[in-house]
Amino acid sequence: MKHRKLLMIPGPIEFEPEVLRAMGVATTSHIAPNFIDVFGNSLELMKKIWKAPNGQPFIVAGSGTLAMDMAAANLIENGDAALVVSTGYFGERFKDILDRYGASTTLLKAPIGEVVSIEAIENQLKQKQYKMMVFTHVDTSTGVLVDPVPMARLAKKYSVLSVMDGVCSVGGEDIRQEEWGIDIVLTGSQKAIGVPPGLALLVASQKAIGVWKNRKTPVFNYYADWGNWLPIMQAYEDRRPSYFATPAVNLILALETSLNILDNEGMDNRVKRHQNLARAFREALKALDLKILPKTPSIAANTLTAAYYPKDINAAALRSRMAENNVIIAGGLLPEIKTTYFRVGHMGSVSANDLVAVLSALERALAELDYSFKPGQSLQAFQNAILRCGE
Ligand code: PMP
Repeated sequence: MKHRKLLMIPGPIEFEPEVLRAMGVATTSHIAPNFIDVFGNSLELMKKIWKAPNGQPFIVAGSGTLAMDMAAANLIENGDAALVVSTGYFGERFKDILDRYGASTTLLKAPIGEVVSIEAIENQLKQKQYKMMVFTHVDTSTGVLVDPVPMARLAKKYSVLSVMDGVCSVGGEDIRQEEWGIDIVLTGSQKAIGVPPGLALLVASQKAIGVWKNRKTPVFNYYADWGNWLPIMQAYEDRRPSYFATPAVNLILALETSLNILDNEGMDNRVKRHQNLARAFREALKALDLKILPKTPSIAANTLTAAYYPKDINAAALRSRMAENNVIIAGGLLPEIKTTYFRVGHMGSVSANDLVAVLSALERALAELDYSFKPGQSLQAFQNAILRCGE
């Protein structure tokens, strides 16, 4: 399409036409038999995608932040100790949310572009009995990927609930919630799940549900209270009508369609595709002498890349020139370094061709801004990497 802009920010992403078509149908009642089926199917598909066959899924109208809010509101009581392991902007947001519900929060903050060491986390867990440990699988502000396996192992060892912000990872990164023993894995619809913004998605372990059931005080958030939502999720899964607050009917039609696309591709294949594209894209940026924000490749996300602008290049001009070339990328988000780096999302149904378009627009913008490089340099590196590893 001649003037179509390619949306390559780390969410919302480009959505499959089939998903958008599913949203465009006439809205039915939220208790129409066909919709009850769609809702029930979506809950079952979530358990498959999250790899949590015994988990309790929740689908609630809202964004990823509501899913974070829901985890904190339902599991935290006044004075509970919570440990937040932060790799960027969204770790700090989780701390704010936990504080709002009266948690006594400790923040372990990684240096920019790095992760907090497992030793530092373990030292902290030895200090006192925490109720909950929160970490961000992929922090969208830095592009840093945290390995959930040792985190989950530590949480188990110290009897702490583990909560993973998977807003920028679920559907794109390897996740095995039940095998790893993570109590909450949450996301929003608009990233690697591939559905327009508007759904908060969360899967809770039976242990987390048990902790919520044994609360001594009420949940101080009416809309997020699992007491309101659990019977609704159970009813839809049993294919029975129910109502607490009107679900986002058309978004849930889109969700079922998209989760089926994920399931048909197979999560292992999907993660591999994200990995191959991410690696090839970073090789391409390196061929232009751009520096990647995560310090080492093993902690660089597969769903997005954060990279510093070359020295002396006007950041706003680069992004607006790329937009004129019909490719939309995102600027920085982390306040300390916001103006020094940019972010490109590569998740969902992203293909090698999409990234070729990004690199081509990037090279043209850099050339217009007098950056010195050989045109085609990044494209060649990308193509070579894709030919070596596949898409
Ligand atoms: N956590 C992470 C890692 C995110 O990337 C985002 C959104 N960019 C959020 C939480 C918040 O999600 P939302 O904007 O959907 O509320």
